[in-house]
Amino acid sequence: MNVALVSAPAIRTVDVIRKKRDGVELSRAEIEYFVRGYTSNEIPDYQAAAWLMSAVIRGLTRAETAALTDAMLRSGEVLDLSEFSAKKIDKHSTGGVGDKTSLVLAPVAAAGGLIVPMISGRGLGHTGGTLDKLESIPGFNVNLPIPEFRGCAMIGQTAEIAPADRKLYALRDVTGTVESPYLICASIMSKKLAEGIDGLVLDVKTGSGAFMKKEEDAIFLAELMVETGERMGKQVTALITDMDQPLGLLVGNSLEVAEVLDVLRGAGPQDLRDLCLELAGWMFLLGGAAASVTQGRQMAEQLIRSGKALEKFGQMVALQGGDSSVIADPRRLPQAEHKLDVLSLRSGCVMKIDCEAVGIACVVLGGGREKKEDSVDPSVGLALHKKVGDSVVAGEPLCAIHYNSEARAARAKTLIEASYQIGETPPTKRPLVHRVIGKTGDQN
Ligand code: URA
Repeated sequence: MNVALVSAPAIRTVDVIRKKRDGVELSRAEIEYFVRGYTSNEIPDYQAAAWLMSAVIRGLTRAETAALTDAMLRSGEVLDLSEFSAKKIDKHSTGGVGDKTSLVLAPVAAAGGLIVPMISGRGLGHTGGTLDKLESIPGFNVNLPIPEFRGCAMIGQTAEIAPADRKLYALRDVTGTVESPYLICASIMSKKLAEGIDGLVLDVKTGSGAFMKKEEDAIFLAELMVETGERMGKQVTALITDMDQPLGLLVGNSLEVAEVLDVLRGAGPQDLRDLCLELAGWMFLLGGAAASVTQGRQMAEQLIRSGKALEKFGQMVALQGGDSSVIADPRRLPQAEHKLDVLSLRSGCVMKIDCEAVGIACVVLGGGREKKEDSVDPSVGLALHKKVGDSVVAGEPLCAIHYNSEARAARAKTLIEASYQIGETPPTKRPLVHRVIGKTGDQN
């Protein structure tokens, strides 16, 4: 019998968009086609944006999420860090406001003997980005060539590492297509798996400043990422942590670097310190350097107390071309020209802070991007004087705006005023760590 050989019809971008728009499951080949086409500039931004919006609205199946993660991971190289015998452990946050824990954790973990190949992102939507923060250190090069990696580095996705995510991330930032657990999972896990890691601690944020505002959504995302990592043979633990108000007191790129230096000196705000120690404890546990999270936390405390973590931070800054004199003198970091206090209109207690609005205020000041092409002003941001649960007297400052443009400061002030809710009775305190998903162990 003669069987006619019929070649598969060529995939067309518009059909991939229409299928996703109509809620039809895409094949692995169609997802690979989309990722390859966008990465190689054959698919333009407008078609990619249409596909992303369909994916946000329709969601992805587990098979589509796995195919997207794999395609994004394989859009570049996977780092080969086999020359290092120590465990390669990273941590990644789903993004928040004032979340500068990566800048503390990379040097702490490396000072404790782990290999930390941290590939980070830029600000996304209302959230800040580790790379933008690091670039506020004059000269700091986030595009360190991979061969120069010496066991601890904080870099961006180079052309070699998950380039598909680098392009998609920038497009999602400005097209309202960030808030999808499936896209976030593929974005984070493709980068992290390309690092050649053994283990990963995920900090999945929940609350008004997180992409996953509802705890159940954060749990869903955490489970998706843990499952994706485990499928690839990695040890993954996710902590669901609070982002119902900014972490620490400072929001904005150079301001946050200054706060990181405080923590690495053994000072800094309690919430930021506590979260850094908890995440470091988990990194040391996954890396086999500690027998429990408690022991890992104690190791982290000791590395900070002894100055070794700060020293490691200095080495990393120097290796990546940054001006390490900022460590001894953080005033050498870019400073905004003006400051403006936002005053409380009434006396009482801070009941709530709309954390997303604070993040947007920082973007509006120029600390983040409203359009893909925007450059970031490293010096602007916000210094919170009051956080949830603090009492306040009418006329007292809630927050100081660090700014370079009067018009931008006026917009930020309106946002900050509306973001603080002052009431009578102190609210119930939310825990910093809501729950742990994935590898458990001695957590106490
Ligand atoms: N962080 C990432 O790396 N990717 C996302 O999509 C969201 C947060």
